[in-house]
Amino acid sequence: MKVEKDIAKLQKAIDDSSYIVAFTGAGISTGAGIPDFRGKSGIYSTGAYDPYKTFDYQYFLKDPSYFFKFAKDFAGLYEKIIPTEGHKFLARLEEVGKLQALITQNIDGLHQIAGSKNVIEVHGGFTKAHCIDCWKEYGFPWIKKEILKIGELKCTCSGWVKPDIVFFGEAVTGMEEAVQYTRKADLFLVMGSSLTVQPASLLPFLTNGKVVVINMGDVMLPEEKIYLKFDSDIDSIIKKLNV
Ligand SMILES: [Zn+2]
Repeated sequence: MKVEKDIAKLQKAIDDSSYIVAFTGAGISTGAGIPDFRGKSGIYSTGAYDPYKTFDYQYFLKDPSYFFKFAKDFAGLYEKIIPTEGHKFLARLEEVGKLQALITQNIDGLHQIAGSKNVIEVHGGFTKAHCIDCWKEYGFPWIKKEILKIGELKCTCSGWVKPDIVFFGEAVTGMEEAVQYTRKADLFLVMGSSLTVQPASLLPFLTNGKVVVINMGDVMLPEEKIYLKFDSDIDSIIKKLNV
C-alpha cells in the first residue's frame, strides 16, 4: 500500500536527519479538543465570537468583554484537554536530539504541556499574560483561576491583563528565530496546518531540507516542494513511527 511505503520513507527520513524543524497548526490540537478557529466548526465560522471584536487590540482597549468571554470559555477547556500522540511524538523527537525547534501557530500551550522545550509560538500563547499598563507578567495558574472566577483579568495596578496571544494589528512573534532554524533544517515537518496563514506559512519555502506534510486536506504548497504528503489525521501516522 502506498501509505505504508510512505511511512517507511518518512521513518528513514527521520532516522537520517539530525536537524528536524517542525511546524504545527490547529490540526494537531483538534484531537485534543481545541477547536480549529478557521475550520468548519471553528469559532470564526460558527459565529460564537466576532473575531474583530474578540482579537482586535484596539477593540480590546475599548471593550475587553468580548475577548474575556472567549478567554473564559477557552480556559475552561483545560479541565479536559490533554496532549495528543502528535504533541508527545514531537516532544520525544526533541528529547532524542533530532528535533531542534518547534514552530507553532497554536496558542494552546499543549506542546509545552507535552514536554517540548524549544517552542516558538508565532501567534503567541494563552498560557502567559501581561498587564497592558504596567507590563506585569502573569502565569497560567493565575490566568485560569481569575478568568474562571470573575470573568476578566485585572492587574494589581487596575490595568487590563491580556494573554500573550497575537491579536489582529499585532506583529507575529519569533519569526526571525523561526527563519534561522528553518534554513538549517534537513527535515521540515508540517503537522496539522494547511499553510494558509502568512507569514509563517512561507517558512517551508526557506528550507533546503525535505518537507513532509501530515495534514487532513489540501496545503498551500507547490507539489515540487513536498517530499511526502499524508492527507490523514496525525495520530494514525505517528503511531506507526519509531522514535
Ligand atoms: Zn498592571
